[in-house]
Amino acid sequence: MTFNDLNLIPSILKALQKENYASPTPIQQQAIPVALEGRDVLGCAQTGTGKTAAFSLPIIQRLSAGATPTTAGKRPIRSLILTPTRELAIQIYDNIRAYSRYTDLRSQVIVGGVSQTPQERELKRGTDILIATPGRLLDLMNQKHVNLDYIEILVLDEADRMLDMGFIRDVQKIIAKVPAKKQTLFFSATMPQEIADLVDSLLVNPAKVEI
Ligand code: AMP
Repeated sequence: MTFNDLNLIPSILKALQKENYASPTPIQQQAIPVALEGRDVLGCAQTGTGKTAAFSLPIIQRLSAGATPTTAGKRPIRSLILTPTRELAIQIYDNIRAYSRYTDLRSQVIVGGVSQTPQERELKRGTDILIATPGRLLDLMNQKHVNLDYIEILVLDEADRMLDMGFIRDVQKIIAKVPAKKQTLFFSATMPQEIADLVDSLLVNPAKVEI
C-alpha cells in the first residue's frame, strides 16, 4: 500500500514525499481511512509506530477542506492535541509543521517550563491546530487566553501516560470545555480502568486500531 491509496490531498502527499516517507505504517493504514471519514478512533499504539502521522494527516486534511472560519477577526482553534510531555508536544508540533507545509494551516505548541507571554501573544494571532501539555493549557484557559468552543477534532495522545503523570483531572477539565459534538482520536498503549472509563464517556462508536 502507498499513501496514494489513502485518498490524501495533493498538498499532504507532496509533504510526505519531501519527508521521504515511502509507504504508510500499519497504524497509519488502519487509522487514516476511518479518521478521514470523521469517525472516532481508539488506537493502541506506542511511540515509534508512526502514530503521530496517523492522527495528524486526517486533522490536516479535514481542516484544509472548505473555507477557514474566523471569529472576531481571527482563526479559532479547530483541533486540540493533548500529550503528556514537553518533548512529545514539540515533536508533534514539528511533524505537523512538516506535514502541513503546503497548506495554509497554522499550528502552535503550548508547554510548561517556559515563559507564558510569547505563548499568549501567539494565541492572540490565532491558530488552527494547538498541541499542548495539560497543565500550561489549563492555566491559559483559566486566564481566558484559550477558547476551545470551535474544536472539531480532539486528540488524546498517550492517555495512559497522562494518567501515570497525574494529569487526568486536568485532562477532564479541558475536555469539559470542548464541544460535545466533535471527532475524537484517542491513543493509549495500555487500558487501565480510569482510561477505559474516559474512553466510554468520550468516544462514540470508535473504530479500534491496534498494532
Ligand atoms: P511516531 O511513532 O509518530 O513518533 O513516529 C516515529 C518516527 O517515524 C518519526 O521519526 C516519523 O517521522 C517517522 N515516520 C512516521 N511515519 C512514517 C512513514 N510512513 N514512513 C517513514 N517514516 C515514518
